[in-house]
Amino acid sequence: MARSYDAILEKTALQPTRQGLRDLLENDDPELLQALTRHAYHVKTRELGRNVYFRGIIEFSNICTKDCYYCGIRKSNHLVNRYELSEEEILREARWCYENHYGSLVLQSGERRDPAFVDKIEWLLKEIKSLSHGSLGVTLSVGEQDLKTYERWFQAGAHRYLLRIETSNPRLYSSLHPKSHSWEERRRCLDYLRQSGYQVGTGFLIGVPGQTFDDMAGDILFLKEIDIDMVGMGPFIPHEETPLGSSAPFDPLRQLTLGLKMIALVRMVMKDVNIAATTALQALSPTGRELGLRAGANIIMPNVTDLAYRRGYQLYQNKPGLDENAVEQRINLEQSIEALGEKVCYGEWGDSLHFKKRQKG
Ligand code: SAH
Repeated sequence: MARSYDAILEKTALQPTRQGLRDLLENDDPELLQALTRHAYHVKTRELGRNVYFRGIIEFSNICTKDCYYCGIRKSNHLVNRYELSEEEILREARWCYENHYGSLVLQSGERRDPAFVDKIEWLLKEIKSLSHGSLGVTLSVGEQDLKTYERWFQAGAHRYLLRIETSNPRLYSSLHPKSHSWEERRRCLDYLRQSGYQVGTGFLIGVPGQTFDDMAGDILFLKEIDIDMVGMGPFIPHEETPLGSSAPFDPLRQLTLGLKMIALVRMVMKDVNIAATTALQALSPTGRELGLRAGANIIMPNVTDLAYRRGYQLYQNKPGLDENAVEQRINLEQSIEALGEKVCYGEWGDSLHFKKRQKG
């Protein structure tokens, strides 16, 4: 009887309300999950086609000045071996992306704001642009910075930026972070990024301790309110060396389902944005990312970091892909994506259509 949900979903897509979204998130009827997925996939194919874009992600350092209670590479976790890839190593991985026709790459790391870090990123951006003759798109995901830094990096060639707000609820945010971390500051950074010219991506932790369905409904509406271009969100997965490592019983299936429902609802509400099927989904199920694509995502970020460093970048436990090198991963992903009837678009940036439309006014 999946049909019975179609009218509600149609209405939610046209005019999402907090109450309506909350009801859908709360309802754990498997028929609803099916109907949601079907509806969202229809929106995705109508708006963006059956296309998937790869962004090779280089996790170039786990050195972090932040102390988020959920994150395995938080400053206070002294059990982590800290690493930082050299410029040569990063450029080697960037070249790999270029030679394998990945249209873009993502540079991600722990958060630092010191001048050496800012300069290194600027230098790398110019080098990556040069080695790929301007053809590799570069997304940054290196946390909160000041406006001037965002502008410098934009000038140097980055054109997309991911900064998860983690939750749209400032009170929940403060329960997940020490006092020195500010929701307002993070929110302001999203404005700075927009102002600097980036395509802006944000997202949330899904199913994090203390979060309600109402918070999650608010998260979806937050994306609409700030008119976001890209979304990267994933289920919370505990890491035992963190304060939230054992705070609640962990139910992987519930987390996976919630993650998929959030993707589907965001696709229905935001329609033409880019949405990533994130690695956290894969940590919960070997086919998690493929399920994400079926629920409306259109971006995958294969890890291209040298295997030697992967153990150092465990944001959460059982992060997959510790032993799967970039080549194996590309082959496996391509096969599973084609099996879904989707196409990997090599050699294209795959910019957010939502952004392009706003640019045109
Ligand atoms: N330091 C950068 C990005 C690196 S962390 C920044 O500040 O933006 C990337 C993302 O990993 C975070 O935004 C967070 O949402 C996610 N993450 C961290 N710990 C996690 C956990 N335990 N489970 C799931 N996702 C987690």
